[in-house]
Amino acid sequence: MDKIKQENIKDICYKISKDIILPKYKNLKDQDIRYKNGTDLVTLVDIEAEKELKKNLLKIIPKANFIGEEEYSVKNEILNYYNENNYCWTVDPIDGTTNFVKGKEKFAIMIALTYKNSILYSWIYKPLKEEMFYAIHNEGAYFEDKKIYTEGILKLNQAKGSISTKYWDEDYLEKLKLLKNYFAEVKSYGCIGFEYTDIALGVRNFAILSKLSPWDHIPGILLVRESGGADTDFDKKQYDFTSKNKNLIIGNSEEFNLKILNKLGEYS
Ligand SMILES: [Mg+2]
Repeated sequence: MDKIKQENIKDICYKISKDIILPKYKNLKDQDIRYKNGTDLVTLVDIEAEKELKKNLLKIIPKANFIGEEEYSVKNEILNYYNENNYCWTVDPIDGTTNFVKGKEKFAIMIALTYKNSILYSWIYKPLKEEMFYAIHNEGAYFEDKKIYTEGILKLNQAKGSISTKYWDEDYLEKLKLLKNYFAEVKSYGCIGFEYTDIALGVRNFAILSKLSPWDHIPGILLVRESGGADTDFDKKQYDFTSKNKNLIIGNSEEFNLKILNKLGEYS
């Protein structure tokens, strides 16, 4: 495979956000909005944007597989693509759909390119600001073509981040309620892409996550890793997106993530 040209991906994101996403921003009709799996919002814009992303990304690597959040919702078996010996695009056409529907500013297009269980490239594009973050495996993390480095702090009481409120079993839910008090600030953006870019920039320090969907996390995880940060699951390993359903800490450093895990361990 040839090296991916950054300007190609930025052009694709720019065009899709200009033609499909932004015209519907603060301009959605009731019939544009639906629920999938009973709880999660989806709009016609998510579905349209994903189709265009698929079409354009497959032009770059025609034989690659494609996993999109919306395609997955009607065809769960596409997750098996991660086990094939092939390149795979993973796409979240709109991360932060609820924010988008409410006319709030934090939503993003997220894309990653993987081969088996390694993440080669990733992109997080912010349509309203026309800003692109990207990461290249073993080369670095970038914001608008400038290298970015996260900044580590080690004290929990100085740290700002988020703790997901969904999907924990009861035991962890209780422990996390206690843990929450140790941090300087715990607040969710409703758009994990923005949290990942802020952690990569060192503006924020952590996110504690449960029940992971690959399109929500593969792009941001490469960005954070390449900026000098770390992802640590509750077994103290790196996130493996080919295996199911783990709990994960994203943070400015592995040392910091382990500190959070140790604190959680004290409650048992
Ligand atoms: Mg989405």
